[in-house]
Amino acid sequence: MKADVWQQHSLVELTALDAEIGRLDHRAKNLAEQQALDAVAAEHQEASDKLAVVAISLEDLDGEVAKYESEIASVRQREDRDRSMLQSGNVNSKQLTDLQHELETLERRQASLEDDQLEVMERREQLQEEQAAQQRTVDELREAVAAARAARDEVLVTIDAARQKALGRRAEITEGIDAALLAAYDRQRANGGPGAGLLQARRCGACRIEIDRADMARMSGLPEDEVLRCPECNAILLRQPGSFA
Ligand SMILES: [Zn+2]
Repeated sequence: MKADVWQQHSLVELTALDAEIGRLDHRAKNLAEQQALDAVAAEHQEASDKLAVVAISLEDLDGEVAKYESEIASVRQREDRDRSMLQSGNVNSKQLTDLQHELETLERRQASLEDDQLEVMERREQLQEEQAAQQRTVDELREAVAAARAARDEVLVTIDAARQKALGRRAEITEGIDAALLAAYDRQRANGGPGAGLLQARRCGACRIEIDRADMARMSGLPEDEVLRCPECNAILLRQPGSFA
């Protein structure tokens, strides 16, 4: 393949630009700011899950407290009924003894229920404090997530601006390059490595492998408009002053 020397020279800047675009893409995909955001977002999620668990436990305790309340209310009702029967005086001595006995049992039952209810209420109070503390943690982490996201976005904006600038310059350069030469460059790049490399100190700038003397001698004899390819990686080899010194 043949191409004007100046066209081949354009590939030097194009190669540098593509390397820069590649570095920017790699950086955008491997941001420390993204890792920081992921970490704090995971922490926030974990704290929110814990908060939800506490809320469920609180609902359970609320249910228990309500259950005690209704049990205590029904015991009191029976006590009231027994007392009014006692006060009515319309009971014989056997009924009197039974009622007094039942009333004592009900009073003990009420006291025991009230003790149990108090215990649950104390546990609920403790859990409410835990819930408030956990809510503060969740709120703080939510703010941290927002800050981390803003920091990540700021870096992405900077990287994208540099990328757009490089892409703009790339478009300018490629406009002037011969279609066949550019296609050869792009085909080589599609393999994953650089499309072209400078021939420097007998090394290919694309694969960094040293080119043997026989190939160097053969290439040095070729006309300047002959497009050179690296014998190792097939990248377009770009001559520069002193390449064959
Ligand atoms: Zn090479």
